Amino acid sequence: MADDGTAEGTATATAAGAARRVLGGLDALRPDAEAFYRNLHAHPELGFQERRTAARAAQLLGGWGYQVIEGLGETGVVGVLANGDGPVVLLRADMDALPVRERTGLPYASTATATGDGEGGDEVPVMHACGHDVHVTCLLGAARLLAEGKEHWSGTLIALFQPNEEGGEGARAMVADGLADRIPRPDVALGQHVLPLPAGLLATRAGVMTSAADSLRVTLHGRGGHGSMPERTVDPVVMAAATVMRLQTVVSREVAATTPAVVTVGSVRAGSGPNIIPDRAELQLNIRTFDDGTRRRVNDAVRRICRDEAAASHAEAEPEFETLADFSLMTNDGPATERVADAFREWFGPDRATTLDEPVPASEDFGDLPAALGCPATYWGVGGTDPAKYAAAERKGTTDQEIPGNHSPYFAPVVQPTLDAGISALCVAALAWLAS
Ligand code: ZN
Ligand code: ZN
Repeated sequence: MADDGTAEGTATATAAGAARRVLGGLDALRPDAEAFYRNLHAHPELGFQERRTAARAAQLLGGWGYQVIEGLGETGVVGVLANGDGPVVLLRADMDALPVRERTGLPYASTATATGDGEGGDEVPVMHACGHDVHVTCLLGAARLLAEGKEHWSGTLIALFQPNEEGGEGARAMVADGLADRIPRPDVALGQHVLPLPAGLLATRAGVMTSAADSLRVTLHGRGGHGSMPERTVDPVVMAAATVMRLQTVVSREVAATTPAVVTVGSVRAGSGPNIIPDRAELQLNIRTFDDGTRRRVNDAVRRICRDEAAASHAEAEPEFETLADFSLMTNDGPATERVADAFREWFGPDRATTLDEPVPASEDFGDLPAALGCPATYWGVGGTDPAKYAAAERKGTTDQEIPGNHSPYFAPVVQPTLDAGISALCVAALAWLAS
């Protein structure tokens, strides 16, 4: 254990002193950050369409002295601030919104629409229902404070704004576009996500942080015909129904009770009328797992059941499988997480700097960045729910019902203390490297 006389104690004290000086600018920045956030919330953009968001980020970063790269992975933006010798720290925010119709009733609620990537390019409502507007605002706030206070640290800061996290393609698109060759190699990559926890709370976790996710489209082939003469057909509706029911046994019968996994069939489509047996049915399903062995086993079981139910129905062709999205397991580096958690405890105090007991069941493509850049990474949660409302729901045991989570049309992080906490967390975590 370190005391103030040791190198570790001195490093923590130095980082805390730098954080105090850098975050001294937060009061002056707050009105701009809040106005920027409300404006961004009202102007959400879908994945790979974040042109307005990206342009605003690029313009602001340039004004604060960052070297800016635009259009990396379609709409990605990177700002690099070289500030002498020292570590290289990458901070990441995702920029994309979701095809959700906002129902929060907020004065700055979104009424935006966009052309979705569904069939026919339908017009869809768009909402920042996952809080990526919080992430963008907080990263810009931290980028500004660290640029204005650069006499208090040394090294290189990289502020990375990533497109299309929701589709799981944005980080990979930036990597494929040569990210690793365009920026210095980071010593650490840091990211955060707003979660339905009390606002002002930070939640770190070493090890597995978010699930692996596999989304599949399965096309089941039957033989169509008249609804009155099923004996002349192979009915894909019955095949699909049997498959959906049998898929429920993957988690309940093939995965150990102590191992978490989810299989959800989110979409079933077949047929056009009551008396026509169609020739195909389509399932869209989503698999969540928390270790590579279970991921393989569940994916294999899903494919086996689809194929064997088709065979049991006497289908003439095997089902087709198409991968719609795949997210790797995201694992937080142990020492990097410990360093961030120590800095958070020092800055926010033990009541606000908490740890997550369990991984988050959602998925994230942040891990694709450090994997490609060859650096450790850690990623934490930031609470966004009104603390009084959260405490009341917790007392009643109704947080699941009463606190809207990410992707809900009612998801509405309170502006403060969420933004202050998110901006401070990024500065404090970055300075744990840059000022020690
Ligand atoms: Zn999301
Ligand atoms: Zn998200």
